[in-house]
Amino acid sequence: MISINSVNKSFGNNQVLADINLEVEKSNVIALIGPSGAGKSTLIRVINALEEIDSGAIIVDGTSIHDKKTDINKARTNIGFVFQSFNLYPFLTALENVTIAPIKVKGMTKSEAEKMGTELLSSLGLADKIHVHPSHLSGGQQQRVAIARALAMDPQIMLFDEPTSALDPEMVKEVLDAIRKLAKEGMTMIVVTHEMGFAREICDKIVFMAEGKIVEVNSPEKFFTAPESERAKTFLSKVL
Ligand code: ADP
Ligand code: MG
Repeated sequence: MISINSVNKSFGNNQVLADINLEVEKSNVIALIGPSGAGKSTLIRVINALEEIDSGAIIVDGTSIHDKKTDINKARTNIGFVFQSFNLYPFLTALENVTIAPIKVKGMTKSEAEKMGTELLSSLGLADKIHVHPSHLSGGQQQRVAIARALAMDPQIMLFDEPTSALDPEMVKEVLDAIRKLAKEGMTMIVVTHEMGFAREICDKIVFMAEGKIVEVNSPEKFFTAPESERAKTFLSKVL
């Protein structure tokens, strides 16, 4: 579903992605973990071309994302992205946040979009919040609206960049539960996370990055009990 081939990316003379190769199968869930500055955010941002790459190729569901001939706006409708900081439209209600793109980009009618949006928000435990503005929602509720908004485009893959890092501890679980539910439904996902228990429980594969490189790809079981690389051992000794 996602194929990343020899991708390189620098900001000035800071090489942030160094010969990255990664394959993600349909319905697999990948946890992308590693120290701050490793290049994790940049790696998921290049997957939907929020950042350019210097060389290499990224194929998502058959589409070459960085090819000049690719209609990137169309390709992006297939890739849901959830940020650490929610990024909801503040002047729109939860439901309007969810329906705006399907109406404007996909040409869905307002009533179709509202039916779909209400179902999505309800499935994420937000049935009583559909007409509420983001400022009146908790962080965990806002992040679930952001997940509903991404799902509203009916994407084949979902990318999450530290979706719980900005949340108060008591709200982390409700957001992880939403991601867990998507995993059960077979969504293909890459999740950048510092929630090691979660990564171990729901992910098919751990991809460990440091200094712009993929240092280790391993099963969660092996990664957390017997990591192969020294770099991962050092990292885990600090976070576990
Ligand atoms: P991580 O998400 O693993 O913490 P990032 O991908 O955010 O790492 O950053 C990797 C490196 O790229 C860091 O050195 C960071 O300072 C640099 N970087 C990220 N985004 C930019 C940018 N837009 N301009 C310049 N440098 C950047
Ligand atoms: Mg980051």
